[in-house]
Amino acid sequence: MIKNDRPKIVVVSDTHELHSAVYIPDGDVFIHCGDASFFGAELEDEDQFKEFNEFAGQLPHEHKLFVPGNHDFFSMKGLQRIKKILTNFDTLIDSEIWIDEYSFFGSAIDYKTIISSVDVLISHEAPYGILDGGFGSKALLKSIHTFQPKYHLFGHAHSQYGICQNGKTIHVNASICDEKYKPKNGAVVIYL
Ligand SMILES: [Zn+2]
Repeated sequence: MIKNDRPKIVVVSDTHELHSAVYIPDGDVFIHCGDASFFGAELEDEDQFKEFNEFAGQLPHEHKLFVPGNHDFFSMKGLQRIKKILTNFDTLIDSEIWIDEYSFFGSAIDYKTIISSVDVLISHEAPYGILDGGFGSKALLKSIHTFQPKYHLFGHAHSQYGICQNGKTIHVNASICDEKYKPKNGAVVIYL
């Protein structure tokens, strides 16, 4: 259930184990666009994800969504492990969730699977040429042009924190850490 007249969405990305350093305002939905860790559940022990999950459990948001990033998993096995640990989140892996009448789609592996009429698209990577620092995905950009979500939330390009509009879509790069992996930026708040 969404409490606010206009759903208040609080977005972060690329916290790289420093999520506790970030002020997270209250809202209806908390979204993390990936890179909560440094080396994923395969190479590191799982404690970092357990700690991240506990941190999220303390947040007041009724809905919490997570889309894993390139630092969080290296195999399907790692991905499944994260999903199991993050009990306080809906971890979206090329899948959709509806919260009231709003659709959220987490695109993690195959950018072609994005469905039409999605309100909020979440990915870890940036689309090519948009707040991407020169290393965005062309496949993702193509899907966004096709499906035109209202919002696209992402991170990955640490130096490109910001918001911009391209066509009908408002793009948000919510990277918390800078290029030196220091927490520099604040959580982004948007209203649907
Ligand atoms: Zn990152």
